[in-house]
Amino acid sequence: MKKSHAEWIAKFSSFKTWQKKGVRAPHKPLLTLLLLRRSMDEINPEVRFGEVSEQLGRLLKEFGPRRRSYHPEFPFWHLQNEGFWTVLSPFEFERKKPGSSPTSAALQKDGVYGEVSSELWQALKSDPYLISLLADTILHQFWPGTLHESIRNAIGLPGMATSQTVKRKRDPEFRVNVLRAYRSTCVICGLDGRLGGIPLGIDAGHIKWHSCNGPDSTKNGLALCSFHHVALDAGAITLNDKMRIIVSVDLTGGRRIEDVIYKYEGREIMLPQPGFDQPELEYLQWHRKEVFRSPGRLLPHEGNIMKAAESEPTGY
Ligand SMILES: [Zn+2]
Repeated sequence: MKKSHAEWIAKFSSFKTWQKKGVRAPHKPLLTLLLLRRSMDEINPEVRFGEVSEQLGRLLKEFGPRRRSYHPEFPFWHLQNEGFWTVLSPFEFERKKPGSSPTSAALQKDGVYGEVSSELWQALKSDPYLISLLADTILHQFWPGTLHESIRNAIGLPGMATSQTVKRKRDPEFRVNVLRAYRSTCVICGLDGRLGGIPLGIDAGHIKWHSCNGPDSTKNGLALCSFHHVALDAGAITLNDKMRIIVSVDLTGGRRIEDVIYKYEGREIMLPQPGFDQPELEYLQWHRKEVFRSPGRLLPHEGNIMKAAESEPTGY
């Protein structure tokens, strides 16, 4: 029986389990997005590792947490656990230890390829709208909305589908409470525009991403102007435990970036009004580890605070 849209969305919504204990593991989601994109052009569901490894490596670097090294071979192999992807090989893979994934070199060998299940492939080929729906389902599970358009553009995916996709419910009080705590003022630059009394270009941002189970609590929220919201979500800036602004060494730009970012480097953010919770250290630490494009630039009196995480997390 042909699966309905709702059934496909439900299947792709269980991808949530790919992330454990708040450690971001965007490997399988990014590979899946690439496969969805391929279904728009390719006739056959087979993919050789070499056809996606470079792009996948680049995407991991751009939209995944900062690591010392990136391993596109892991998702190429482990995506098989999801039931719509198989890796076929004319020979037995040598393993370093039982259960470990084959090396990148082994996956590059002649005759080795991955294949999307014919059920999914036919569904995608006969119903292009399903591509947008599933891409949206994945994006909402793994990244905040501020980054969705950049990821879609980097992969060449079509625009947003509709609200059919499964999203974790948000507490509407979160925005109200955060904006109230900070008087609808960006905690970094102090922007506080109003249009007829309504905040203009000021959002309530999550420190620990909502998509990674960050709670809808003022302890995890900051009022941010649109630009500083994107800068925080993209990892261009972060906060240390003293609520001071750290800037990534990777950020570049001219005079305007000087005005909107470097000018605030090392400064403490605006704290909430009395009676409201301050940001909790746990969430700030998560942001530095999982989102920030480490290392931070050297601050005059604090030394170089952030280093890249030691290695890839295992558990996915
Ligand atoms: Zn701002």
